[in-house]
Amino acid sequence: MTAKSFVFANQKGGVAKTTTTVNLAAYLTAAGRRTLVVDMDPQGNATTSLGVDPRSLSLSIYDVLIDQAPIQKAITLTERVGLDLVPATTDLAGAEVEMARMMARERLLERALHPLLDDYDYILVDEPPSLGLLTINGLTASANGVIIPVQCEYLALEGLSLLLRTIQQVRDVLNERLAIAGVVLTMYDSRTNLAQQVVQEVRQYFPGVVFKTIIPRNVRLSEAPSHGQTILSYAPASAGALAYEALAQEFMQRAEQASPNLIRA
Ligand code: ADP
Ligand code: MG
Repeated sequence: MTAKSFVFANQKGGVAKTTTTVNLAAYLTAAGRRTLVVDMDPQGNATTSLGVDPRSLSLSIYDVLIDQAPIQKAITLTERVGLDLVPATTDLAGAEVEMARMMARERLLERALHPLLDDYDYILVDEPPSLGLLTINGLTASANGVIIPVQCEYLALEGLSLLLRTIQQVRDVLNERLAIAGVVLTMYDSRTNLAQQVVQEVRQYFPGVVFKTIIPRNVRLSEAPSHGQTILSYAPASAGALAYEALAQEFMQRAEQASPNLIRA
């Protein structure tokens, strides 16, 4: 079976791309799915959130993309979660400039992942908060689509048209399979009318693709990364954990049904 690959993208920072990538990955792993997380953000938040110390690494995604290091050598097994990670370090901040001079610069990640496709059920790529070459590489490498986390706050939809245009361009030129595989509503605060309004707006804007599971604002989710843990090990009974567990179920159902209901942007 070949891996299903998804990228978590939104050029807005702080919308829970990383939180969603690592916690979803933890529950996919717990459900017995062979899962690889690829950290494409120079901030390396997915790497540290999964308990991996960037200083302990000999190879990272930078070496894979820029120096064609074999990706297998960059894979780290995360101790607590038991999933595989291609980590990122701050080196990656300089990668876009170097990539700009390279041949087939949009396809570096796609090519790097190719030898791994039979080794995993899911490959989840955590994107940086920008629409540059790193993000384009993620979008080009994704066979099964983009997941867009959207924070339930004022102006939640602002800037999304830019992301949608980028997705459209990548689909036209680089990856015709690219679809919007899902939208995840995050940091929902049930006490505010605004949050409920945003949920409605986002569901109207993306008919049929928004996951039913809504991720609540939950302090445990924000504490877990500083302990190098996912919510599954840090606070498995918290509201945040239950939400990501439900999201993982919904995600697997969508991804594993015979004819995936992928909606185009
Ligand atoms: P991004 O990767 O999109 O920049 P993060 O996943 O890093 O966003 O989340 C931004 C911040 O919000 C982090 O400090 C994270 O711990 C926190 N956070 C994410 N989701 C939640 C949530 N549901 N409740 C509370 N805090 C959250
Ligand atoms: Mg992030």
